[in-house]
Formats: sequence, C-alpha cells, structure tokens
Amino acid sequence: MRVRSFKNRLLILIVTLMALAQGVTIVLALADLSQRVQDESARQLLASRVLLDQLLTNRATQLDSASRVLVADFAFREAVATNDHDTILSALTNHAGRINADMAVIYDVEGQPIANTLESLGTAVGRLSLPEDLTTDALTPVYAVIDQRAYELVFAPVRAPQVIGWVALGFRLDAALAELLKKQSGSDVSFVVQGGGAQQVVVSTLPATVLKSPDMGMSDGAPDGDGVPRGMLLNDQEYLTLRVPLDTQNGRIDLVVQRSLDEAMQQYRQMRLALLLIGGAALLGAIVVAWLTGRSAIRPLSKLVAAAQRVEAGDYQRGIDVSGGEEFEQLAQTFNTMQLGIREREARIVQQANHDALTGLPNRTALRNALRQQASMPTLSVALLDIQRFRDINASLGHSMGDQLLCALAEYLKNSCGSAVQIARVGADQFAVAMPLHDSQMMHRMLLLSEELQQGLPVADLRININLLVGISEWRAPRVAVDDWLRQADVALLEAKEHGSAITTYQASHDAEHRRRIMLVSELRRAIAEGSLSLMYQPLVQMTNRDPVSFEALVRWTHPTLGPISPAEFIPLAERASVVGDLTRWVLGAAITQLGQWRKQGFETEVAINLSAADMTDPALVPNLLALLREHDVPTRQLILEVTESAIMNDPQLAAQAMQQLRSLGIRFAIDDFGTGHSSLAQLHALPVDELKIDRAFIMNVDTSASNAAIVQATTELGHSLGLKVVAEGVETPEVWSALLRLGCDLVQGYFISRPMPAAAVVEWTRNQRMNLSQVIHDAAQDGTLSDIRSRFPG
Ligand code: C2E
Ligand code: CA
Ligand code: CA
Repeated sequence: MRVRSFKNRLLILIVTLMALAQGVTIVLALADLSQRVQDESARQLLASRVLLDQLLTNRATQLDSASRVLVADFAFREAVATNDHDTILSALTNHAGRINADMAVIYDVEGQPIANTLESLGTAVGRLSLPEDLTTDALTPVYAVIDQRAYELVFAPVRAPQVIGWVALGFRLDAALAELLKKQSGSDVSFVVQGGGAQQVVVSTLPATVLKSPDMGMSDGAPDGDGVPRGMLLNDQEYLTLRVPLDTQNGRIDLVVQRSLDEAMQQYRQMRLALLLIGGAALLGAIVVAWLTGRSAIRPLSKLVAAAQRVEAGDYQRGIDVSGGEEFEQLAQTFNTMQLGIREREARIVQQANHDALTGLPNRTALRNALRQQASMPTLSVALLDIQRFRDINASLGHSMGDQLLCALAEYLKNSCGSAVQIARVGADQFAVAMPLHDSQMMHRMLLLSEELQQGLPVADLRININLLVGISEWRAPRVAVDDWLRQADVALLEAKEHGSAITTYQASHDAEHRRRIMLVSELRRAIAEGSLSLMYQPLVQMTNRDPVSFEALVRWTHPTLGPISPAEFIPLAERASVVGDLTRWVLGAAITQLGQWRKQGFETEVAINLSAADMTDPALVPNLLALLREHDVPTRQLILEVTESAIMNDPQLAAQAMQQLRSLGIRFAIDDFGTGHSSLAQLHALPVDELKIDRAFIMNVDTSASNAAIVQATTELGHSLGLKVVAEGVETPEVWSALLRLGCDLVQGYFISRPMPAAAVVEWTRNQRMNLSQVIHDAAQDGTLSDIRSRFPG
C-alpha cells in the first residue's frame, strides 16, 4: 500500500478525524455517564438515609404510643407504686409482646432498673441509666448498646400523679429491620457498634464475603457525620458509603448505608460497551465510505493517468471517458482534444517526413524503411533513375515546367512499374524503383522505359524528351544493409555518368574505384591547399615552320603514395566534387606568376589555361584573373583560355557573358576538344572565340581514316571561314603531321613536337626550336631547297 498516494492520504485523514471525533465523544460521554452514575448513587444513598430516619421514627412512634398506654394503666401504676415486681414484669411482658417490642424496662425515679423483660441478660440492663435530658412529654428515641446489641428505645414516665418511675420500650436494630430497610431503600444497611476501642458489625445486609473484608471494620472509627457519601473499597468492590452516628444512650452505634458502585457501574459498563461498539461500527463505516469516496474521486484521475501513459507510449488512438465531476469531464475533454491534435500532427509529420512534397511519392527515408521490410523477398533489385541535363530543362523551360515534368515522370513511373515494391523520389532529379527482379531483368525493364521516355513525355502542352541515366543494383545474398545496397545503386549511377553507358549494373569492382575516387577528392583538396601541384607546359607550334607560338599549362599531381595521378582522372572528380574552382584558381595563379617571371627574364610567350564548366559560371573568375594579371604585370594578350563545348552549353548565357567580358579586355578563347560535343559551329559563332582545338580522337588517325580526314578538313575550312585559328592536338607521328599539313591546320600540339615540359625547360626548348628552325633555313639555302621551304612560309 502506497501511503503517498492521494487516495490513501484521504483515507488516513478521514479515518483519523473520525476516530478523534468518536474518541472525544465517547470519552466525554463516558465521563459524564460515570459522574451521573456516581451522583445518582449518592442521591439514592441520601434518600435511603432519609427513609431510614423515617422508619426509625415510625417505630419510635409505635413504641411511644404503646408505652403511654402502659403507663396509663391503673393496675400497672399501682403495681409500680407498690413495687409489685411480678405484676410489673407481667404487664411489661404483655405490652411488649403486643407491639412486638424486643425489650421493656421499668426504672425508678432515680433511674435504677426495677424490672426488665431481658432478665436473662442479668446485670446487662442494670448498666443502662436514664438519659439525663429525658423530658416527660417529648418523643425522643434513644439508642443503646445492650450486651453487644443495638436497640432503639423510647422512654415514658409513670405518674401517680407525680412521676414515680420510667418505662422504656425498645426494638432491637436487628437483621429483619436491616432487610426491611434495604428492601425499601435499595441500599445495604449495617449497624456498627463501638465500645472499648473495638467496633463490631452487629447487623448487615452486605454479603458475607464483603463482610469478611478487614476494611468493613471501618478501623479509623471517625464518624462521617457530615452526611457526605464516600467511596470505600470492600473486598475489591467499591462501595459508596454513608455513615450516620445514631444518638446513643451508651456506647456508640453507627448506621452505615452503602451502595455498591460496581453494581451501579454495571449499567455504565454496558453503556460504555455499547458506545464503543457503536463508535467502532461508525469508524468502520467511515473507513468504508472514505475508501469508496477516495476511490471514486481517484478513479477519473487514475483513468487520466492511464491515458497519459498510453500517450507517452505512443498510443493516441483511444479516447477517454471520465465521469465523476465537471472538472474531470472538462479535463478529459481537453485531454481528448489534445490527443487528437497530437495524432493529426504526428500523421502530418510522418507524411512530411516520408513523402516528397512535390510529387507525393515516398522519399528516401520511406524507401529505406520499405526496403528493410522486404528483406525476406527472394529477388529484389533497385534502379536509380537520373534525368540528364535536368538543369538545362529547368533553365530553358522554367522551374514550374521542371516541376510539372517531375510530377509527370512520377505518374509515368507509377503507371509503368505496376509491380514495383516501392517508387520513390530520392533527389532533385532522381527517382528510385525497387522491383522483384534480377538485375538483368531490371536492366531490360529500364531499357524499355528509357526508350519510351526518349520518345518524349507529355508535360502541359509539350512533349519533352527525357534521357535517363540508370544505376541498378540487385540485393544479392549475403545481403548487405539496405543503405549499402542503395549506395551500390548510386555507384552504378556514377559509373553510368562517367562512362556514358546510360544504364549500368553495379559491379563489385565499382566499389573499389568509388572508394579510390572519394579518397582522391579529399587528398586533392589537401594538395591544392598545400600547393603540392605543379604545372607542365606543352608547346603549340606553327604548322608551317614549327615556330613555338604558345604553351598549354597542364596540371600535374604526384600523390605521396600513389605516385603521379592523371588529370584525366582527377579533373572530372574535382569537377563533380566542386573542388575545381580552387584548382583553377591555383593554376591561374601559378601560370600567370610564371608568365610574369618569364617576362622579367625577357621571354615572352602565350599560355593557354584550361577552364572547367563550373569556372564559367563563377562570378569570382573575372576579377580574380584581372587581379592576377595586374599583380604580375602580364598583358592580357599573353593569355588564352581553353573551354569545352559542354562547359559553355552548361549555362550558355552566363558563359557568353563571362567570355565577352574577358574578350573585351583582350583575353582570347579556344574551344577545346572540338567535335566531341553537340554544339554547331553556328552556335559557337555567336561566342567570342579565337581558336578551335580539334579533339585528338579525330587527329590521331587522320592519316589512315578518310572520314576523320574529311571531318578535320571540313572543320578547318569552316573555322577559317569564321575567322578562327584551327589547332590540331595529339599529333604523335610525322605521318599525321604530313596529313595535317595537307588539310591546312594552323597550329599543332602533340608528342611529335614535344611532350609537356617543366617551366624551367621552356625557355631553353624555345631557343633550341628557333635555332633548329634557322638551321633548317640555312641548310635549305645551302642545298638549294630554300625555295621549297619558302613555299611553306607564306608570311
Ligand atoms: P586537354 O585539354 O585536351 O589537354 C591535352 C591532353 O593531351 C594532355 O593530357 C596532354 O598531355 C595530352 N597530349 C598532348 N599531346 C599528345 C599526344 O601526341 N598524344 C596523346 N595521346 N596525348 C597528348 P593531360 O595533361 O593528361 O590532360 C588531360 C586533360 O586534363 C586535358 O585535356 C584537360 O582537359 C585536363 N586538364 C589538364 N590540366 C588542366 C588544368 O590545369 N585545368 C583544367 N580545368 N583541366 C586540365
Ligand atoms: Ca586543353
Ligand atoms: Ca583537348
């Protein structure tokens, strides 16, 4: 039992109060009752005493009238006058007998007894003398002790006509009298005689057992004449005792009236028992009532507590119904409203947390949870779908159109992937579809789907062609965690992006590559920050006379443990991880610093620097570039920026803006890797471009491939017609060189001329190149082939 609980406290409080009230009432009632019983006993004792007085007076009156009849008798008077003993005695005996007196005595005038009916007592009567204050006519009973017995006596004078003697008639204060008194008064009556220092109970109505008590001897002997009853213990019983000394002629006689308090208190005890029983019952009743009240007062609270605990445990479904008072009902109502609110809010939060607001599809979190529940499904594959160039769609058609496209695609996926376990939107332009298929089957499904979407998806009034990149991963045994499985699909998607195979299935080897890439990106960040990169310079020479015109700056990174890492590997990584901005800043700084140093050495050349797509939209690019040129005192004409078609097409407007701004300052642009993108020359014409660098894929076999030769020739002619210089990169052999010579390219770059070299080698290499050139001219002049050479140098 928990004492601290409200219910139990209430119970304890009520019961304690009840018990106190009951206790005080009972104690007061009993005290009052006890007092009353004692008072009543005392009153009855006093009444008994009055009754006794009356009885004794009645008897005295009886004696008196009998004795007057006797003393009026002539014959008796004569017998007294003549002292006729026998006649006197017979008359006394007769008279006494007539009124049942116990004794009769006749005295002479001097008070000497002449005759008595108690002859047998001998001299005992002789000790009796007349009371001194005897008057002739007053009725005054007198008590006397005769032979250890108590008597009530009445005296009457014998006249002839003068007083010649006295007659005394007496009753014994005997057991009969005591019993009569007890009968009439209800009190016990005793007569106690004292004489010679000892006292003796001569007659008593008390039970014999009590009489044996030593205390009944009333040993103190002090008369309790004040008429006040006192308590007294007799044989362990309490008696209320009233002791009245009688007016004795000789010795001392006490009338003792007593009432047993124990008997009187019997009623009190019964009453006390009744009161205690009633009190106990009332207390018990109070406990029951308090307990019930406490419970009914607590029940609504307990219900509320239980409901609150349910809510705490996350169960908001059950409402509560509480009766037991307006306040409780209101509280319950408020509670239910609150619960409803929590339920709705939770549902909303769960919906928001698990769904994509735009398409209403489940989000990545929901996808993960749904897949976890499918762990027992024997075959399961997931495909990640990425919309290619979604940014371009957004940019060209507007964001609202982009949103509508996403919604339409979501709807399309729902309709065409009916057996999907889950369809979710997991990124801005990424969806996931999980189906109970093997990866090869999934691949097939996705191929069909991609082909359909390439035909166009109706969005608003348009049909938009959608190109998908898809990464697929099957959840093979032993199954990895869902997160890892989804990551595999991500890796496959990355692979698809990188290798241009639109639909790619995850292979374990992808993972190692993926990890290497992640590692490389973070290490590259550090290398840039620490400046542990370097630049190599590869010359571009005039096609006709191999005169060096410019150098392309190519970044080099030697990893402390992996060794040299190709920019062909880390540049795309840097581009995807948004590290390329920092890289470009470093390259620009290093290349322009180098140009400044060369200028101080009196060496002037042009340097081409490669830019990435992200650089074209970087607002810091132009100010950064200009600041560097100014700082190192390098004129803008010494700088060429190489940009790929796709870098420009990423955001053509922004790219054109930046290019125009730089072009107006005198910085030139070259289109790098020309021929690999999808742009047309017409599109490029609108841009401030100075050079075209035909991609080395076309150059490397231009001597053997007629189609490549045709492409190079057409591009060169078109370029020239637009006023652009045409550069051939990747020239490795004299055969290619000769072929290009025929096709009319302006500049050449490639291993056939030189591999990229450190900055320190550039000046020397240039001098040698020019020396070789003049040597060739000198030799030609010597052996008469100068004209041949001249024809190659139209300028
Ligand atoms: P790219 O701009 O087309 O640079 C020319 C690449 O072709 C260089 O490779 C160069 O070493 C290589 N090359 C030159 N002549 C020949 C040849 O005769 N035969 C063959 N097979 N290759 C030749 P590299 O240095 O490995 O650079 C690869 C790519 O990395 C570059 O292609 C460029 O797109 C990028 N890159 C290099 N440095 C930078 C840089 O500083 N910034 C940026 N954004 N990209 C850079
Ligand atoms: Ca380049
Ligand atoms: Ca190139």
